[in-house]
Amino acid sequence: MINGKSLAISDLLGKWYDQNRRLLPWRESTDPYIIWVSEIILQQTRVAQGLDYFNRFICRFPNVVSLAAADEDEVLKYWEGLGYYSRARNMHAAAKEMMDRFDGVFPSRYEDVLSLKGIGEYTAAAIVSFAWNKPYPVVDGNVYRVLARLFAEETPIDNLKGKKLFYALAAELMNSRYPAHHNQAMMELGALQCVPRNPDCGICPLKDHCVAFALGKVDLYPVKQSLKKSRNRYLHYFYIIHHGKLLLSRREKQDIWKGLYEFPNIETKEQMDFENLQSTTDFQRMFDDTGRLDIIPELSNVKHVLTHQVLFATFYKIQIERMNEALQHYLQIIPENIDLYAFPRLIHIYLDKLKGNLPD
Ligand code: SF4
Repeated sequence: MINGKSLAISDLLGKWYDQNRRLLPWRESTDPYIIWVSEIILQQTRVAQGLDYFNRFICRFPNVVSLAAADEDEVLKYWEGLGYYSRARNMHAAAKEMMDRFDGVFPSRYEDVLSLKGIGEYTAAAIVSFAWNKPYPVVDGNVYRVLARLFAEETPIDNLKGKKLFYALAAELMNSRYPAHHNQAMMELGALQCVPRNPDCGICPLKDHCVAFALGKVDLYPVKQSLKKSRNRYLHYFYIIHHGKLLLSRREKQDIWKGLYEFPNIETKEQMDFENLQSTTDFQRMFDDTGRLDIIPELSNVKHVLTHQVLFATFYKIQIERMNEALQHYLQIIPENIDLYAFPRLIHIYLDKLKGNLPD
């Protein structure tokens, strides 16, 4: 239930937002498709990086119909470099689902939006709140931080109990007369003012209501239960040329980068130099009966950090005399056509070197 304090906070928040909000293309729209695309892009991406992707994506796929009709490869190409590629695959699947279930029209019921692939409670709330002004609280990472500090809430934000509690707090603060405006103001306050490190609380519109600020304990919130351990992976990529053709494959496994392209590669449990690598069964199977190998080590130990994984990659350029059974399963492309394929950023580091953009 909305009490006096909630109304005062929401009022201060709304005034601050009107004066400080960033002008972003998706903010000026109530089109649920536009809001959906922007929210999915911004889930794991900073606004500065996401803006260009958003503009290009909307230009090529301006609505549900155009996205549903596209090839997955093309959708991934437009997502290339953004990471978390399941977001793009899920959007593509959800657009097709909307064609089948809703005649290509974006549904307006919260439950229908939530039922679409890749749309969780947060995104569904953002879509129905921003597009139709429905009173669903939007609780993203920024909002968790604002709420945790505002109420000096000790419950960790990353477990089920915390999620329920913070949702209830957000619902209590919600100004049901202006849900879209209120939600956007909360998110923007977290993004611009109540930042993770050293927020300038002296100029915050909510400072008189903020318990963490009053206690001098802003840095202690939000509380997190655990940090998942990260694991190291060691990848050895082979840029294999055979009769002028380059070998590629599409990642199909339930692993990172599903649907993107890469070079033939071997993963080892620990770091391995070439001498040891070539004595592994995987290497021998891959290059068995391929004739004389012309091998040039090109980049070694390239570190690439993902959520919960740290990759260490080494790249070799290899010329082979003939194909064998193992390599026959790979795509053979003309190297000049490489830009037609979507690659993870790690592979682009090597491609940039090949194009002469990186020093040795
Ligand atoms: S006073 Fe500081 S900690 Fe509290 S909401 Fe404002 S910026 Fe965040």
